[in-house]
Amino acid sequence: MLDMNGDISITVVCDNNPCKEGLETAWGFSAFIVGAEKTILFDADGDGSILLGNMEKLAIDPQGVDLVVLSHVHGDHTGGLDGFLEKNSKITVYLLKSFPTKSKDNVQAYGAKTVEVEQSLKICENVYSTGQLGRLIKEQALIVRTERGLVLITGCAHPGIVKIVNAAKDFLKDDILLVMGGFHLEWATRGKVEKVISAFRDAGVRYVGPCHCSGDKARRLFEKHFGENYINVGAGKVIDIADLR
Ligand SMILES: [Zn+2]
Ligand SMILES: [Zn+2]
Repeated sequence: MLDMNGDISITVVCDNNPCKEGLETAWGFSAFIVGAEKTILFDADGDGSILLGNMEKLAIDPQGVDLVVLSHVHGDHTGGLDGFLEKNSKITVYLLKSFPTKSKDNVQAYGAKTVEVEQSLKICENVYSTGQLGRLIKEQALIVRTERGLVLITGCAHPGIVKIVNAAKDFLKDDILLVMGGFHLEWATRGKVEKVISAFRDAGVRYVGPCHCSGDKARRLFEKHFGENYINVGAGKVIDIADLR
């Protein structure tokens, strides 16, 4: 048994796919994770006012966040960071070593600490980064270790969603309970998506929650193949890991 701090719960604060009524759904992504040693915001959406507005509607206090982890430098994942730092700068921001110096300096100018991720690493008890993956567009994904397996949350999955899944498995040598976030299959052919689905099967992925840049066609195919283990993710979706069997 792992020494868990409580049940992990993931709330999708921002996504371009709608889920809960009343939330804004512009192009971007941000997820809020509670129940681990630290409270984490993964990605900061593209717009600070949307991020903070959705947080408020979801009764998430920005002051309660300990860490922000940024998957990659693109504006739809980092654009809301300044707005967030204006509300809470007593945090550590896990960004990538490859980020431009000016974005690192900007975070520090608010008084927040930065950690420059390069290799895979432990962020806090039971929470890890895959490390900086990919060549052209570098990206990290967040891994939460639970009693039921690994939960992998991706931003845009530019390095390739299958590559990220395999990197997480290789790193922590555990089964994958859930993969959620952007899978970057918006423009992928049906054949390509089916290859990804079969690679997920090979990797033993139990649940999927594709959103953001996954594309409607891919989401429908994942739903068809995963059936009741497909999670319809959008802004406001709450996933309690204890509910996944
Ligand atoms: Zn991107
Ligand atoms: Zn994106």
